[in-house]
Amino acid sequence: MSAQRQAEEAFQQEYQKAIERIRTMPDGAVGWVLRFLQTDLEALTPTEWTLVAFEVAAFVDETGDRYGGMVAPESGWSVEGVPNAKNYQTIPSRKEAQDIQATVLEQLELYWHEGYIAFTFPQMTLVVVSPGSFSDETGTIFVSAKRKAKEFEYRFVHLLAQSGDYIRRCPECAKIYLAIRRDQLYCQPRCQNRVAARKWRESRKTDQKTERRKEDRHGKKRGKG
Ligand SMILES: [Zn+2]
Repeated sequence: MSAQRQAEEAFQQEYQKAIERIRTMPDGAVGWVLRFLQTDLEALTPTEWTLVAFEVAAFVDETGDRYGGMVAPESGWSVEGVPNAKNYQTIPSRKEAQDIQATVLEQLELYWHEGYIAFTFPQMTLVVVSPGSFSDETGTIFVSAKRKAKEFEYRFVHLLAQSGDYIRRCPECAKIYLAIRRDQLYCQPRCQNRVAARKWRESRKTDQKTERRKEDRHGKKRGKG
């Protein structure tokens, strides 16, 4: 087996493992995105970073339930996964992934604030393939953008449409999480309990102050009498 072929097989293996990791996340692709957005990429060891880089590549191209078009890469990430890789077999650099984090987090803030956001896709191409090739029932739509990071945003748009109302920031710990219930405010019972405990302590403090004021007044009255 040639060195090139070996590198290609090793890449494919890592790529498949990344797909599997995203698919088996508790909340699937949405869960993966939320974790990715809140990962300090700078703090990862090279080994940890490589796992994430493969996940970013896998997320864009082919994981989870698909909404919207498949991605048919028209551009690659900046790191070659195998020698002379073109569009496939590439993974993002840490800088590329950090830029995605910043862009998507900014869009998310706008979405929370305005209720909508616009993603622009310069030079995006949509290709429809007739039924039979990829699905027996319906045709398949492929999406290609000139910049790889734009393909990530394209995937994110559909995740937002699907789960946007449930993506929230916990007012207690500031973590971005996927709510289970529509009326859920805190990310975990732990945060909710912490807030409840604090409110209870504060109300007790106010009660004690009121008690003391009452006692003071009574004391004064007694003093006068
Ligand atoms: Zn929280």
